Amino acid sequence: MMPIFTEHFGNASSIHWFGQQAKALMDEARQHVARLVNAEGSEIVFLSGGTEADNLAIRGIAETQKAKGRHVITSRIEHHAVLHTCKDLEKQGYEITWLPVSREGLVDPNEVRTALRPDTILISVMHANNEIGTIQPIEEVGKIAEEADVYFHSDGVQSTGKIFVDVRKLKVDLYSMSSHKIHGPKGIGALFVKKGTILKPTMTGGGHERNRRSGTENVAGIVGFGEAARLALEGLKTEMPRVRELRDRLEAGLRSRIEFIHVNGESAPRLPNTSNIMVDYAEGEGLVISLDLKGVAVSTGSACSSGSLEPSHVLTAIGKTPDEAHGSLRFSLSSMTGQEDVDYVIETLPGIVERLRELSPYYKRG
Ligand SMILES: *Cc1c(COP(=O)(O)O)cnc(C)c1O
Repeated sequence: MMPIFTEHFGNASSIHWFGQQAKALMDEARQHVARLVNAEGSEIVFLSGGTEADNLAIRGIAETQKAKGRHVITSRIEHHAVLHTCKDLEKQGYEITWLPVSREGLVDPNEVRTALRPDTILISVMHANNEIGTIQPIEEVGKIAEEADVYFHSDGVQSTGKIFVDVRKLKVDLYSMSSHKIHGPKGIGALFVKKGTILKPTMTGGGHERNRRSGTENVAGIVGFGEAARLALEGLKTEMPRVRELRDRLEAGLRSRIEFIHVNGESAPRLPNTSNIMVDYAEGEGLVISLDLKGVAVSTGSACSSGSLEPSHVLTAIGKTPDEAHGSLRFSLSSMTGQEDVDYVIETLPGIVERLRELSPYYKRG
């Protein structure tokens, strides 16, 4: 990215060589992002991140399809970028079906089928959940959407680069991605838009990105995203199996040393890098702060809702009480995590939990 801030400073929309240099770099990045999900370069729209991708997908379809109907199907465990966008549509007179999930955090494709109506215009179900990592049966939902001739969007921000993604096989029309979730720069993302999909842009202007997202392209961000995508695709075969083993080691190690802990979504298909652990009789914020003092960065719920007193909507949707939800920790591993990191957590967390539990009246009585 560095040369783009200095030498290759051209505007990718300019005709002169200076601009075309930037455009060539951007085209290469577009190919890398497309390859990561088995799309064509022309189907990739760069924009400011996962949040904007979700907004463009949902609002873009809602707007173009409103003559056909105003019914949207989504799940209760979506990221806020989808959740709040659908709530906003609700205020505008659209009807939303909020699908429940099982205790393991999975949407049932049959419930999607049952929810379909003649006026359904969009199904939006995330590929992998950002808090508990459960992987939804997107291929089955895709088949249902195709049969019903309803647009299908999936928020793939968490799954992209963590598991093999093939937008053709999943039968999605729209698929959201974000660079910073795969070690790329922040503030850049992409929306896969299947060829032929009519989408009203949320951002109007000079008609960049094939009229789908106006605004001078963030060339440095795009190039950084492209490189991150290239590395992520390589890492799917080499890194992710190693990360999964580390994740399993973490869960097994903590289980053998700490009583009364549970892994949320444990028996569902899960991302290799996510572990959401519920610690009974201990308060989540206390755990996070104590781990932070020891140099371990974890969160309760999602990074976005940390600091809010509301329990996670994902954990309550899988049947946890607000108290249980507050005692959950989310560990995220990556290609940059080593066994020594995991072993350090296994050594450190039991003492912290013990200390916090001493403060819990329930634990002492129990
Ligand atoms: C992080 C995230 C987003 C938002 O992406 P940004 O690039 O941070 O706007 C959307 N959906 C999911 C599932 C996420 O994890």
